[in-house]
Parts: sequence; C-alpha cells; structure tokens
Amino acid sequence: MQKFKGYKCSVCGSEYGPDEVTYLCPKDNGVLDMVQDFSGLKADAIRKSTDFSIWRYLPLLPIDEPGHHGTPMRAVGWTPVFEPKALARSLNLKNLWIKDESSNPTASFKDRASAVVIARAQQIGAEITMTASTGNAGAALAGMAAAAGAQAVIFAPKTAPPAKVAQLLIFGARVLLVDGNYGAATALAKEAAAEFGWYCRNTGYNPFTTEGKKTAAFEIWEQVPEQKKPLSIFISVGDGNIIAGVHKGFKDLLALGWIEQMPHLFGVQSDGSAAITNAFDAGVESITPVKSTTLADSISVDMPSDGLRGLRAATQTGGAYIKVPDQEILNAIAELGRHGIFAEPAGAAAFAGLRAALNSGLIGAGDPVLVLNTGSGLKDVGAAAKVAGQAQVIEPTLAALKRAIEVFH
Ligand SMILES: *Cc1c(COP(=O)(O)O)cnc(C)c1O
Ligand SMILES: [Zn+2]
Repeated sequence: MQKFKGYKCSVCGSEYGPDEVTYLCPKDNGVLDMVQDFSGLKADAIRKSTDFSIWRYLPLLPIDEPGHHGTPMRAVGWTPVFEPKALARSLNLKNLWIKDESSNPTASFKDRASAVVIARAQQIGAEITMTASTGNAGAALAGMAAAAGAQAVIFAPKTAPPAKVAQLLIFGARVLLVDGNYGAATALAKEAAAEFGWYCRNTGYNPFTTEGKKTAAFEIWEQVPEQKKPLSIFISVGDGNIIAGVHKGFKDLLALGWIEQMPHLFGVQSDGSAAITNAFDAGVESITPVKSTTLADSISVDMPSDGLRGLRAATQTGGAYIKVPDQEILNAIAELGRHGIFAEPAGAAAFAGLRAALNSGLIGAGDPVLVLNTGSGLKDVGAAAKVAGQAQVIEPTLAALKRAIEVFH
C-alpha cells in the first residue's frame, strides 16, 4: 500500500501515519483527509481500464485490490450520465447532464463508500462492520457486506422509510431501529464501536467513506467532455460527506494535472435541514445545529458530521449553498420523472436546487451543469405518491375504457 501515506486533519492540519489513527483527529475530533502519493501515475493507466466500476480507480484509492469478482461489490459506480435535451431546453440551459446513482447495486450513491469501507474492513481483519444511517448508507453497507461474505450491524432511526428497512433486513444485516433521530443513532453507533471493537463506517467519522465517494468525480472527469467554462455540479447535502468526497476527487485530479480547472460545487439542502446553508449564508465556518423537519430523510440531519469540509467544497470552488422547500423537492421528483429519471426526495433536491439557482441568477444559460441524482425513487414511494397523481380505475370493458380515455383528449 505504498500510495497510502496517512492522514491529515481538516481542522488543525496535524498529520498521522496510516496506523496511528482510525477515525477522527485525536486532538480536536476533526475529520481526517487521506494523504496519498500518486507520483508516476499516468491518466492513461486509468483511461485504458476495462473495469467499468469504481475499481478502475484503484490506483487512486488507499486500499488494495478487494477481490470479490462476480459479486455486487464489483458493480458499484460507473453510473450513467444522461443528457436530457428536452429538460435542458425547458430550463434554457445549453448543457445539462444528470448522473444517475440509482443504478448502483443497492440503488444509491452510498455504495461507493460502503464498498471501499468493506474492502478496508477485510484488509484490516475486522469481522463486524457497522454504521448509523438514515437508510441508504446502511443498505449499502449491508449489501456490500453480504456480497463480500462479511457481517454488518446497522443503526437507523425508527422513522426510516419501510423500503430502506426491508432492504437492510433482506441483506441479512443485524438491524437496530433506534427510538430517536439520526443523531441519536450516530451517537449510539460510535459508542457501540468503541465498546465492542466493531469497525465503524459512520459518515464524517470513517475517513474511507470520502475516498469511496470521490470516485464520482473521477467518473465525471471521464464521462463528461471537458467544457471551456467550469462545470457547475449540484449535489444534495445532509452530513456533507458526498460533496466533500466529490471535492476531494477533483482536488486529486487537479494535483495530478489531469484537469485544469476546478468545477463549481453547489450544495443543496432542504430549508427544513439547512445547517450548512445557514453557515454559508452567514459567511462563517462554524456550523450551528438545527432541528431538522424535512421529508427528504437522506438529508435530514440536525448537526452535519462533515459540515466543515462540506461547506468548503462550495466556498473553495466558487460554488454556493442553496436551500429549497420540501414542496419544490417533491415537484422535482415529478419533473425528473417526466424525463425517465426516478429520484428519491434527497436525489431530486439537487435538481430543485438547480431550478432555484437559475431563478436567482446564480447559474446562467451558458453554464454547463451536472446534477447528481443520489438515490432511487423506489427507496421512498410514499414521497413520490404525494406528487404522482391518481391512476384511473375502470371496469374491464371497452365501453368503460372509451369513457375513461376521453379524459385524455
Ligand atoms: C446520504 C445521501 C445524501 C447526502 O449525503 P451527505 O454525505 O449526508 O451529505 C444525499 N442523497 C442521498 C440519496 C443520500 O443517501
Ligand atoms: Zn485536528
């Protein structure tokens, strides 16, 4: 593991060797960035890979070859990038791409992090891996653990959508529904990790999640033709770890000299869960907890665990933070659906943020834009049903059908 040099604290800058720490900075609980050595690595080594998954980026990841060929572990990433022309026209945008993470094995972006964490767990000999999750991180960990023949324990809030809980159980994880919110589940998970020695995947805690998530940036680099103007990328934000991971990926590419300009990263939050947006608007780096109320469960977070790096992903790239009401998130589900893309509320939030940015003039017609749909609409059909409208019920006769379809004319 020559390329993996250790860690650097995102708050105080202290550096640690690969075996000196496991989770946060011991001095100030700052989230740790990976320090890696990519010297001698050529872009062609990646571009020529015939592995169309996150593992094509193994030379850029701080882990060894994970194995598990022929399992869902090898099917994470290389998600499609769509170019919906009609949608672009309706927004008056010249270039619009949507990267759809719903095609990951467990149907959300979180597979990227969980696959890398399971690979790491097996490489350090951890028998049980666990996480707190609003649902998707847990489903991803449970799914990857099942694929790799490992054991997972998941702490989720009791209010997690039923589809996500079913997914956890079907993957054979030990599931504990915590009678409290995501913050309570997170705190309990950390205590359990310390008490029982389980390997903890918690977001904004385990530094390997960011490394898995950065693979989305590498894919964008390969899948989206380079534009004259920097790409503006819209990402929904709860803890801030996805946007921090995408930022890290582009920082790696910049350091390698494989890109010339940093994209602008836009974080989108529900106005019912906007802790990082509040800090962005106030122009400060200290984040004050909120009392989250959003229906977008995957981005419902009182105190973001990776808030500082999530905030800097926007402030250091000329992006911004935007908050949108839940009703606009629901409307975005319906609008994306009309173009063949089915997003869960947190996934659609990014698109709602793009609409808001167009309305406020943050984004103009000539800006190339990519929106990340982070999760499948099938994860939360209850939310989709709120804007789906009603299907018609008819008697099984042609006469009844004729009466019914008159409505369409
Ligand atoms: C986890 C998640 C997010 C937010 O990611 P953070 O790292 O918490 O900011 C957004 N969308 C979906 C679907 C998610 O599962
Ligand atoms: Zn520190």
